[in-house]
Amino acid sequence: MTKLYIAVPCYNEEEVLPDSAEKLRAKLNAMMDKGLISYDSRIVFIDDGSKDKTWQLIEGLHNTDSIYSGIKLSRNRGHQNALMCGLMTLRDQADAVISIDADLQDDIEVFDEMVERYQDGCDVVYGVRSKRETDTFFKRFTAEGYYKVLDKMGAKVIFNHADFRLMSKRALEAFSEFHETNLFLRGLVPMIGFKSAIVTYERSERLAGESKYPLKKMLALAWEGITSLSTKPIKMITRLGLIIFLISIIMLIYSIIRFFTGATETGWASLAVSIWAIGGLQMMAIGIIGEYIGKIYLESKHRPRFIVETFLND
Ligand code: UDP
Ligand code: MG
Repeated sequence: MTKLYIAVPCYNEEEVLPDSAEKLRAKLNAMMDKGLISYDSRIVFIDDGSKDKTWQLIEGLHNTDSIYSGIKLSRNRGHQNALMCGLMTLRDQADAVISIDADLQDDIEVFDEMVERYQDGCDVVYGVRSKRETDTFFKRFTAEGYYKVLDKMGAKVIFNHADFRLMSKRALEAFSEFHETNLFLRGLVPMIGFKSAIVTYERSERLAGESKYPLKKMLALAWEGITSLSTKPIKMITRLGLIIFLISIIMLIYSIIRFFTGATETGWASLAVSIWAIGGLQMMAIGIIGEYIGKIYLESKHRPRFIVETFLND
């Protein structure tokens, strides 16, 4: 039977925690009774250096019921790091770990389906939002646009999937080979491969309290996603430099024509052409240096070159 752990990162979540904890416990108990998961499954709260009573609440929960566990980070390190901490700490203990936000905006009713997919042999099960009705137009427009930009940048992400997913022990083991510190988990997980599946759900409103992801943090995460997964922006500089240099050649031809038709001031042609040419060449040079820095950057991540799924051998 599957030993399932639920990893819940929490930052200043005193308002939602008691409610969320109760809902999660009821859900897990129901799954245990159905025989879907084992009785030693756990709900693990990862306190990301909260400044409110979050940790005291976690301690209290742990003392009343052994289904609750807690991990406390020494200080606030951000959602992605807190989640990574949870996944890496739990990978030896659980058969599978589901990560979910503390506010339970993601639907806990799809846990069953996730576990079933896992039992069918999937190592990663992605929770994907079927629609974005609870989002404001702004959020929906920017979020969906962002996923498309990421795709164009060559980063493989699952459309409308955030950090609600199940990962098997094997997937977590493989994931531990990724040593990078700048984390954008939803972009890294697809890199590990293995058989995966998608379950869809509708995202609801936050149970209580306020979003711990203000616009500034969201933009930082979005930028992190692009820069930690892709070196395309550097290539764009090289390309732009090339385009500007080509324009300088057109400008050169244009200036020569103007010169011979006598329609220019002395010195104008050489000046105009050199501005374009120098600009283009400089940008290309920066781009080329950037290409090498990009390679150094990717090398420095020490990502695994391959992950073996099966080895048939007597
Ligand atoms: N979170 C965290 N550390 C932070 C900020 C947020 O662990 O520095 C957690 C937070 O407690 C929640 C999850 O990340 O469980 C997602 O945050 P939130 O629900 O506020 O984001 P939103 O749904 O508004 O994007
Ligand atoms: Mg939320």
